[in-house]
Amino acid sequence: MQLVTLPTGETLPALGLGTWRTGESPGSQRAEVAAVRLALQMGYRVIDTAEMYGEGGAEEVVGEAVGQAVAAGELRREELFVVSKVYPHNASRAGVRAACERSLKRLRLERIDLYLLHWRGQHALGETVAGFEALKQQGLIRHWGVSNFDTDDMEELIGVEHGDRCAANQVYYALSERGIEVDLLPWLRSHRMPCMAYCPLAQGGLAGDPALANVARRHGVSPTQVALAWVLAQPGVMPIPKAVREAHLRENLAARELVLRAEDMAELDQRFPPPKRKRPLAMS
Ligand code: NAP
Repeated sequence: MQLVTLPTGETLPALGLGTWRTGESPGSQRAEVAAVRLALQMGYRVIDTAEMYGEGGAEEVVGEAVGQAVAAGELRREELFVVSKVYPHNASRAGVRAACERSLKRLRLERIDLYLLHWRGQHALGETVAGFEALKQQGLIRHWGVSNFDTDDMEELIGVEHGDRCAANQVYYALSERGIEVDLLPWLRSHRMPCMAYCPLAQGGLAGDPALANVARRHGVSPTQVALAWVLAQPGVMPIPKAVREAHLRENLAARELVLRAEDMAELDQRFPPPKRKRPLAMS
């Protein structure tokens, strides 16, 4: 199993589960809880969520599914790595504490494993970092990090007090969005911070790509699995594809077994060329 290593040396599985667009309507909550529970049964051990998703609804879905799995003896809490995110407008020193407590309540957890600033907002980075560090000391989070930060944001971050304790940066990265390869990804690698790749399937948009289908045919897999295996093959990168359908959950987990060959990589580079110059960070 591929792993990524946090700056502290702790390792975690390189494939996680996204939860954006879940918890948005009470009518689908049962099915979404069942999907997350099934994912846990299949072996997913990293779950990504945020206070923004369904305005707390996604955290409730995760909390319910994890609660059920733990109560049924299928999982011990320590085996799971839960990531959540604070809204930028809540990211003042005092605001992160209140937001984190609300998230913990919805997640029904005592601690969040990795707490991210969802994107940069009006609060000074030093304020947010001080708030995160206090949460760490109080045992409410284990690690903190950022999301949607480009290289200049990361430089600014490590310039503030304790900013170099950032554990990860979560950004858009997929075959069809390779902009971070110019300087952000090398920067993260040189600082030994994992890159959490969101939208690794371009929100499902890569499923019908003919070049991916070509490579997929050679391996007897689906185009989506090729797209995911390509992200997994990038050192220090951790994709967090979202899936609710059982077939998708299984396919995505099985993509870990797919080893792409040099000829596959060359074909994918031809269809999705690596960037030659810096571009603005893609966001979704
Ligand atoms: P994504 O993971 O690239 O794509 C999700 C879509 O692909 C869903 O519609 C899903 O369908 C479909 N899908 C999943 N597996 C598939 C498969 N094997 N074959 C065909 N289709 C498949 O996009 P995303 O959800 O936007 O991004 C992933 C996660 O990253 C989010 O859920 C969220 O946790 C995080 N994220 C973070 C940010 C940020 O600003 N930090 C922004 C965006 C996303 P079903 O659900 O129907 O199975």
